[in-house]
Amino acid sequence: MSDVLALIEISHRGEIAASARGLLAAAARLGSPVAVVVSSEPLADDDVARLGELGAARIYSAVTAAASTVLVAPAVDALSAAAEAYEPAAVLTTNTADGREAAARLAVRTGGSVLADVVQVRNDNGTVVAQHSVFGGAYTVESTVDGGLPILTIRQGAIEGQAPAATADVSTASLEAPTAAAAVIERFNDDPMVSARPELRSAATVVSGGRGLGSSENFVLVEQLADVLGAAIGASRAAVDAGYVAQTAQVGQTGVSVSPQLYIALGISGAIQHRAGMQTAKTIVAINKDEDAPIFDVADFGIVGDIFTVVPKLIEAVKARSN
Ligand SMILES: Cc1cc2nc3c(=O)[nH]c(=O)nc-3n(C[C@H](O)[C@H](O)[C@H](O)COP(=O)(O)OP(=O)(O)OC[C@H]3O[C@@H](n4cnc5c(N)ncnc54)[C@H](O)[C@@H]3O)c2cc1C
Repeated sequence: MSDVLALIEISHRGEIAASARGLLAAAARLGSPVAVVVSSEPLADDDVARLGELGAARIYSAVTAAASTVLVAPAVDALSAAAEAYEPAAVLTTNTADGREAAARLAVRTGGSVLADVVQVRNDNGTVVAQHSVFGGAYTVESTVDGGLPILTIRQGAIEGQAPAATADVSTASLEAPTAAAAVIERFNDDPMVSARPELRSAATVVSGGRGLGSSENFVLVEQLADVLGAAIGASRAAVDAGYVAQTAQVGQTGVSVSPQLYIALGISGAIQHRAGMQTAKTIVAINKDEDAPIFDVADFGIVGDIFTVVPKLIEAVKARSN
């Protein structure tokens, strides 16, 4: 079976990022998963065991001091070295800004091709086939690479299930410090924006608020529901433009795409540009006072009602259940 490389991200807390499960599950559908990890210290035994649990048959551990200070370039160096060593059938990264950039740079280096924002993969007699959800989720299309290494950026949360657990063989390599000055960006290690809430793209539950919240003070309702559910916070562009919440929370065509298990939309009408970023969520719940709001067309469960009446009751009910 051909090897498939998966670039595993390390979270700001130094842990294996939640996106690793989906990447390794996708890699296992295409071949034998090889986790590529870039870190400033050799991988701890716990991390090796965790990657094995998530299905990594092998781990390519690239160690470089630049891992904690330089963005993307060390990951591209590690993927290039691993691609040379394993001659993989495909390379997978997350569909984040860093993951897409690593994919694009690797494609330039290897003469490969990028298949972006992939929501499902399959191995068609040795051909890597990627699925994409396009036009606001209205169509699912497939793409393949005509020659060259396929490099896929995988939408977080889109791939369900987990690869069979394995006992991972570890190869450790030392990476030279990146030399290309243009590729070197300093990482802000003490980022004050780092939140205790889950990261939006990889969260299992997302609670999003729209213009229906009416003000940044009222947006606290979204935060309260998110916190009792252990969810990440999202928003419509109208809520962002009105200054209720930071732009990093924007879900949709010009924001982030999410595929959580549960997406709760509060006071969001469901414009096609918003749906483009959340329609692949497994279960969608919408609360809106307008029964004709288009969000109900994609919702699995809908409540026609005032968020200021319904959401406090919902928060109380969730709290009562968790006690
Ligand atoms: C090129 C382009 C890109 C775009 N990209 C994005 C994007 O990435 N993401 C995005 O979200 N949008 C995007 N938009 C904007 C998009 O078209 C919509 O304008 C936006 O999504 C609307 O946000 P909203 O649903 O919060 O606001 P509205 O459409 O104003 O809807 C507010 C909803 O709240 C409901 N409501 C009001 N009060 C209450 C209440 N008390 N209780 C319950 N419900 C209530 C209303 O019934 C209404 O349905 C883009 C637009 C363009 C042209």
